[in-house]
Amino acid sequence: MVYILFSGKKEEYELNAEEIANYNKIIANTEFSFFQSLVKPVVIFDYYEDYALKLISELCAACGMQYNCSVEYSSNAIVDAFCVYEGEKRKIVICEGTVLSVYRYSSILSCLYNVVKLKDDKKDIQRHSFIIHSTTSNGEIIDTSIIISDSLKENMLTDYIAMIALKCIISHEIGHLLSGHIEYRKNAGENSVAFSMAETISKIDNTTLQVMEMDADQFSACQIVSILESELLKDERLIGIVEDIAQVFQLIGAAVQCVFYLIGIKNNFWKTDNPQKYTHPPAATRVNMYLDVMRNLLGKDKNKDWGYIVKGVINAQKSIYSYYESDFNNPEEFVMDILNVDNHIKYLEDEWKKIKPIFASFTKLPFIDCE
Ligand SMILES: [Zn+2]
Repeated sequence: MVYILFSGKKEEYELNAEEIANYNKIIANTEFSFFQSLVKPVVIFDYYEDYALKLISELCAACGMQYNCSVEYSSNAIVDAFCVYEGEKRKIVICEGTVLSVYRYSSILSCLYNVVKLKDDKKDIQRHSFIIHSTTSNGEIIDTSIIISDSLKENMLTDYIAMIALKCIISHEIGHLLSGHIEYRKNAGENSVAFSMAETISKIDNTTLQVMEMDADQFSACQIVSILESELLKDERLIGIVEDIAQVFQLIGAAVQCVFYLIGIKNNFWKTDNPQKYTHPPAATRVNMYLDVMRNLLGKDKNKDWGYIVKGVINAQKSIYSYYESDFNNPEEFVMDILNVDNHIKYLEDEWKKIKPIFASFTKLPFIDCE
């Protein structure tokens, strides 16, 4: 259950009727708005459950597979998401901490830094800080501060960034589910299998686990490009609020970096000298490969559009860093991290080519070589 505290002060817990009416006027009311009303519990989870189940059933139907999978919302503060196989049951689990963090970053990026340029951007817009006060199933309390703007467009943009970021995370987990990763691990003798966003417990060697992460990221990048092309670029509501079409691509970049910032910076795993030690590739490597897949899917003649996605990634990184007043004094190094091919990327790509055919033998999902 999520409650809203105005400006985080308990004594201001109760908004009066006029304030509620005023705030409810600026709530964006998209199907994926975090707030449908400031005084009602947040019901956003249903939207993502529908998204996940629909994607799984559509892809399974298209390739003649059958998976019964549930999607669960875990009411805890952890920033994580899982793909789990246990007792013959498959499920995708999304922790509340992830959803809250994603909405928080998205609201900062949209309302305070305008990482995506909006049409008729007005100056002197008031922004308000709200604390979402949420009590988890084990009694833990998570207070998440979210920015709400007096500009409806900015709040709408927050919803779009968060929606893409969460679909990026959820489709990654679906990638594990459908790409034969569970079957591979079952075949290797694991009775229960779980993939986590940051660290996976498994008997499998780290290289294979990292290749699975890379594979799931590729699946996710494909889904995001598909949402971009089949939905966002045709979305009149979105096109109606952004300055130009390039901003839709920047929005994608900002959402992707929202996710990898969360994974990389929070877990202090942006880069490492010894990537082989871990079950996941470092976040910098993952953004780099994610961008690469998107570039290939957009097509070589779309380099300009891809450039806007990269710009969105860089804008988001710069903004979150400056919000937390942390060092971002080497932007060139960041650009190298996300665009240059390093030894670990080459290593993983070679391994992926060797291991991918084995994953493919466990699934009917078509083998797509993104090169
Ligand atoms: Zn994963």
